[in-house]
Amino acid sequence: MEELKAGLEIHQQLDTGKLFCRCPGFLRKEEPDYKVERKLHSVAGEGGEVDVAVEHEAAKDKIFEYECYNDNVCLVDLDEEPPRDIDKEALKIALQISLLLNCDIIQDTQVMRKTVIDGSNVSGFQRTVLIGQDGYIETSKGKVGIMKVILEEDAARVIKKGKDKNVYRLDRLGIPMVEIVTEPDIDDKEMAKEAALKIGDILRACKVKRGIGTIRQDVNMSFSFGGEWSERIEMKGVQEPDLIINSIENEMKRQKKLVEKGDSVAEVRNALENGESEFMRPLPGAARMYPETDLKLLHISRDEINVVRKNLPKLRSEIKKELKKEGLSEEMISLVLQNNKVEEYKELLQLLGEPNFIAKMLVLWPKEIAKRLDKNVDEVDEKLHLDVFEEVINNIKKKQISEGDVKGILEKIVSGIPVEDAMKKEDVDNLEDEIMNIVKSKPGLTVKSYMGLVMKEFKGKVSGSEIMEILKKLVKE
Ligand SMILES: [Zn+2]
Repeated sequence: MEELKAGLEIHQQLDTGKLFCRCPGFLRKEEPDYKVERKLHSVAGEGGEVDVAVEHEAAKDKIFEYECYNDNVCLVDLDEEPPRDIDKEALKIALQISLLLNCDIIQDTQVMRKTVIDGSNVSGFQRTVLIGQDGYIETSKGKVGIMKVILEEDAARVIKKGKDKNVYRLDRLGIPMVEIVTEPDIDDKEMAKEAALKIGDILRACKVKRGIGTIRQDVNMSFSFGGEWSERIEMKGVQEPDLIINSIENEMKRQKKLVEKGDSVAEVRNALENGESEFMRPLPGAARMYPETDLKLLHISRDEINVVRKNLPKLRSEIKKELKKEGLSEEMISLVLQNNKVEEYKELLQLLGEPNFIAKMLVLWPKEIAKRLDKNVDEVDEKLHLDVFEEVINNIKKKQISEGDVKGILEKIVSGIPVEDAMKKEDVDNLEDEIMNIVKSKPGLTVKSYMGLVMKEFKGKVSGSEIMEILKKLVKE
């Protein structure tokens, strides 16, 4: 019988400044302002041993070139100055994530140095601090324990790896990252995917960076084929949830052959996009950490934890449930979430308790208006800020306009008519006659052509959607 034992390791960059200096945490595309060259040697941690993985890297004995910028690389990044206190916002986000993962918070915790010899940290170590432990998430196939939540510095990013020299850019070095390590409770590939999605849902509820390279997902796995368990495999860079399933399936096949021959070894492998993988390095041992003596013990008070606990961000899945309960349609729920308009939606819903109307006004009509007026959505969004929607709603409540008028009014506002004027009712009977005259003067045209003619005549006075409605009545296509 084939059995799986798997755990996840997820690294997620936080959307804040750097962790132990006050540099901003953004990446740069421009040429660096200056460069620094260093050489590193394998140094054992205080009392620690140089382990297999460290030796493996040090054997390469390389020159490291670091690309620097004046505004987001400082002497702390270059290991010329001691670290500053931990970034408060990053710590808060790490606490949120830990609590959402049901972890116990470590109230007195020591920043540690983790030996890194591949040159991606100028100092030769990465600062890392344990924030939470012993948590769990629920999946449909059972609980998955959360072993630990760690807050740590991201490494420099690789620009070029050569035979004698590696080039790194220091913009990324020091950006806060949360590492989540689950217990090896996962015994099914679908469960692995579900756990990854669940953790992703929690991360996205917090202030984390988005996009390629901001999240790294590894799967640790071992297998049993009716006998002993195989050695542990660390599969790096399994980014897509669907790829998790492929990776597990493929590694299981590979390990089955190796175990039969007695050739299974613990190793780190790199996941490829097709679900296959390649050898990266032997599995590192455990003796790589020693205390950061430049920083005092990090104390997180009970009060601090309680404040974070009381203000935990809501998960997208919870928000979805809530919006559904309020009567918002599935389509509108996705649009509101996609456009990041949950806050605005809730505020407006308090003024007028009609979920689908509010959502349409907030996320659907602005898109349609942008398309019709050939503007980009940001430009339209800028004109239609929350105050405008509030004023429109107030006028509906005073019965000065009806819900059916709103799309037209918004379009007028976007095309530059002052909000107050846009809200004034047009004499629709008269407008219909005027349009009728235009249609009669040039019979046989399409609605689209009439649209052009009428718009020219009434530009800025009447909305396109209003005209379209009348034209559809008058012209049979
Ligand atoms: Zn810095």
